[in-house]
Amino acid sequence: MRYAKNILGTIGNTPLVKLNKLTSDLPCLVLAKYETFNPGNSVKDRMALQMIEDAEAAGLLKPGGTIVEATSGNTGMGLALAATVKGYRLICVISDKQSVEKIDILKAMGSEVHVCPTDVEPSDPRSYYATAKRLAKETPNAWYVNQYDNPSNTKAHYLSTGPEIWEQTDGKVTHFVVGVGTGGTISGVGKFLKEKNPDIKVWGVDTYGSVFKKYHETGVFDENEIYPYITEGIGEDILPENVDFDIIDGFVKVTDKDAAMYTRRLAREEAMFAGNSAGAAIKGLLQLKEHFTKDDVVVVLFHDHGSRYVGKMFNDDWMREKGFLD
Ligand code: PMP
Repeated sequence: MRYAKNILGTIGNTPLVKLNKLTSDLPCLVLAKYETFNPGNSVKDRMALQMIEDAEAAGLLKPGGTIVEATSGNTGMGLALAATVKGYRLICVISDKQSVEKIDILKAMGSEVHVCPTDVEPSDPRSYYATAKRLAKETPNAWYVNQYDNPSNTKAHYLSTGPEIWEQTDGKVTHFVVGVGTGGTISGVGKFLKEKNPDIKVWGVDTYGSVFKKYHETGVFDENEIYPYITEGIGEDILPENVDFDIIDGFVKVTDKDAAMYTRRLAREEAMFAGNSAGAAIKGLLQLKEHFTKDDVVVVLFHDHGSRYVGKMFNDDWMREKGFLD
């Protein structure tokens, strides 16, 4: 008999899938690391489990304890899987721009959910960062995950996602393109791949309204870069410790409209029902066309599943309301 001893044993070992139609103008092979195959339907299952196991080992998370996190949904889902299997209580703090589906899913998985306003400074006590910190302080036997600065986030990708991509491409990968939020995915995968072959190029996909690209290019944290945006999962108004700017060769910015349109195109042209940051990632990759040549093997990572966006990017009324469809 071959079975996982619980659902956590099914995390990782996701497929690598060739893109065909959307990338037909590119000279190279483009492969998607398709993370929706994880049990929580996103790449975040990997780092959630790693963060919990490292906190247990360090004595920060004790039996019967409460896990508190500020999460846009996917990390919460990953934490919920591990919390349920391991017997912890979970409190997720989420911002009000996230899709209703993400909030409902967290509740379905047994998490308590606190919703906070998006358009306030990170230092504002109403922000979701500040609320998560406060709840962690007020709750007895609680551990604040802090995926932005928790090194186990990057470590998970260094130990699993990176080696998988290396092995699945027989070491032939030449470029890695991925959306950046906490930075865990790009930093962990990027570090692993560059240790294997320093010539591999690592590109981050950023969004308009986020600080990453400008900071990477100038070293200046420019507050003028910060404004509300629609794309989910990528871009930040802070510099998370998990973004290792030194291993990133460059950032490319994708508009909200393009990210939404390419999320839809992935579903209709490649039959890949992936999330909004996958749309941003593939559009970012297409914008980098001039960097690729015939023998290149470009890996792009798709973070999460389309079902979380059926009321948004996959909904024509919502798309019209945002001015993305005529
Ligand atoms: N896409 C989605 C849908 C996400 O939830 C996240 C995490 N915020 C990202 C992309 C970015 O990944 P990372 O945090 O590892 O940079």
